[in-house]
Amino acid sequence: MELDLDSHSLNATDTLSIKLGKGGAEDRGHGTTDRTVAFLLNNRLHIDYIRVGSEDLQWRRTGGVKPGESGVPTDADLLEVHLPASINGNDIVLNLSYRGVLYEPLDSDGVLAATITPDFVYLTPAAHWYTDLPDGSLSTFRVSARVPNGYEVITHGKLVARREEGKTTLFTWEADYPSDNCFLLAARYRVTHDIYDGIDIYTYFFPEEQGLSESYVDATKYYLKMYEEMFGPYPFSRFAVVENLFPTGYGMPSYTLLGRAALKLPFIVHISLGHEVAHNWWGNSVFTDPAHGNWCEGLTTYVADYHYKELINSGSAAEYRMDILRTYSNHIYDEIDFSLEGFTEGGVPRTEKAVRSILYGKCAMVFHMLKTLTGPDNFSESLRSLYRERKWKQTNWQDIQKTFEEVSGRDLDWFFRQWVLEKGAPLLELTSAAVEVAGQGGTYKVNFELSQRPPVYRLLVPVVLVTADGERHRHELEMNLPRQRYSLSSESRPKGLSVDQDADVFRHLLAEEIPPTLDKVLGDREMLIVYPTKGNDRLIGEYKALAHQLKHLAPIKPDAEVNEEDLSKGLFLLGGPDNNLVVKRLLEAVPPPLKFEGKSFILNETKHDEEGASLFFCLSNPYNKGRAVCIFFGLSPEAVSATGQKLIHYGRYGYVLFVDGTSMDKGVSPRIMDPLSVVF
Ligand SMILES: [Zn+2]
Repeated sequence: MELDLDSHSLNATDTLSIKLGKGGAEDRGHGTTDRTVAFLLNNRLHIDYIRVGSEDLQWRRTGGVKPGESGVPTDADLLEVHLPASINGNDIVLNLSYRGVLYEPLDSDGVLAATITPDFVYLTPAAHWYTDLPDGSLSTFRVSARVPNGYEVITHGKLVARREEGKTTLFTWEADYPSDNCFLLAARYRVTHDIYDGIDIYTYFFPEEQGLSESYVDATKYYLKMYEEMFGPYPFSRFAVVENLFPTGYGMPSYTLLGRAALKLPFIVHISLGHEVAHNWWGNSVFTDPAHGNWCEGLTTYVADYHYKELINSGSAAEYRMDILRTYSNHIYDEIDFSLEGFTEGGVPRTEKAVRSILYGKCAMVFHMLKTLTGPDNFSESLRSLYRERKWKQTNWQDIQKTFEEVSGRDLDWFFRQWVLEKGAPLLELTSAAVEVAGQGGTYKVNFELSQRPPVYRLLVPVVLVTADGERHRHELEMNLPRQRYSLSSESRPKGLSVDQDADVFRHLLAEEIPPTLDKVLGDREMLIVYPTKGNDRLIGEYKALAHQLKHLAPIKPDAEVNEEDLSKGLFLLGGPDNNLVVKRLLEAVPPPLKFEGKSFILNETKHDEEGASLFFCLSNPYNKGRAVCIFFGLSPEAVSATGQKLIHYGRYGYVLFVDGTSMDKGVSPRIMDPLSVVF
């Protein structure tokens, strides 16, 4: 492939080896009649010829392909090539030549699929810049690309040749292992090289980011060591961290593509990089099966993002799990829920929130419960075995079930049916609890009842009994009925009992278990936005404009029209007590750390009267304890307009203080009560 950067074009010759009779390559009538084979190619590329050997073949474009799940527009045509009866056999080698312009300005909005410019060459599989069968089958690749001297070309696999010829350099990359797609990038990168345990580590950064290279190399070594110990040898001979001009965090086989702005953020090198390294085991060498859900994001999240919390301490890990439960409970209702098996790419459009919450969050929790159920040793051994047995193969949930069953020697059919084939989550309640003195020797019994709403799940529920002498006894109780009674005995006087306090079970939280956060309000299907009507016109105007921007989320009302029934909804209130009648009415319910004081307010014992200050603060709705109220106000019209649109990015917080649009202080208000705990 020749890349002409100034004219934004490529000129390619392509050798496509296909096995007919498999996958999407059609096969009609062996050797006796004519056959056809179909593949995809970008419709802006002009085809010069398609041949087998020296024989020119007839072909036709059969039309476009619908956009993929990612929202990236695909402009591929399905090309149908006519194979005359004279071409025998099922191993067909097609030779093609094609050329054309692939260009989108680098500053265009949204996600780019392909562009060729002197600043950056970015060719994604979504752009179909190479020929591919439409069936999601796996391929090996060998790519040669010619660029002007001074540029570096990178794709996956190994760089097998790099030859300067006059003013150009020809790069040849070879990936001899199967993969599902091919990205290619070229730019004036500076390349650094290091080595860890026989694995070549590279960074491809622009000169401005060169200073970050060392920290990325060090972190890469750390993660490679961690995951080789966890799962087995790294599947490739190299790993590269490649800077992208677009904001991505992609984990490709043997490299990761990280956006320029992200590269500089400390959590990227500490969390996201590790996640992308782990994808080389899960997703890039043990592949998902596109027709049967996606297990690899949840597993990668569990062994990366979540595992790093475990390495800090068990409290951080529990908080991470609780956050998964909160997000699911706040945002997912039956109509948008889906089963892990039922998630297929290119299928039903899903909201980003639902994909994050289920494919990453719920799925990570499923692996967590699998670990609890089979034990940590079986869990590790199952993952090692899965990697050993399924490397370079498309792997579905059944394969995972089989591996875990073989290693643990347990029947896990019910587990996978319940958590993978079905959507949804259980809802647990502690319906009664009492202490009984059991014998004369002063032993005690704690009797309690757990209930769950239908459909009934089979669960392993952790229950902690705390005794008067401060000891904590953890029990794992089996539950498989709508209501079940339990009795735990204790030598010393029981002081309290708590059910699944560390969120070890994936479940819907009870409304009272969820602290009031902006997400809780925004995720409430019975939400009302209330704007103020009293006060300075410009300030009221800003609040109204903000309400209008949020109108896709919920109905809007002026404060004077809010009735008693409205008060029990999830409320998003704009304006402080001087402006908004509803805020004034709720004033008594506002807990510390917030206090209104004339034209100013006090947050966490600090007084704020700056013109640029604004705050959102969430509390439990005093008219309906299961729901939350969010109050957003600013001390000037400018403060309101500078912050309004940013609010939704802070959904997980209970309050955030902004000054001139920049967040200065944030936190979560504590839960008011825990319905799954009792104190005796
Ligand atoms: Zn991922």
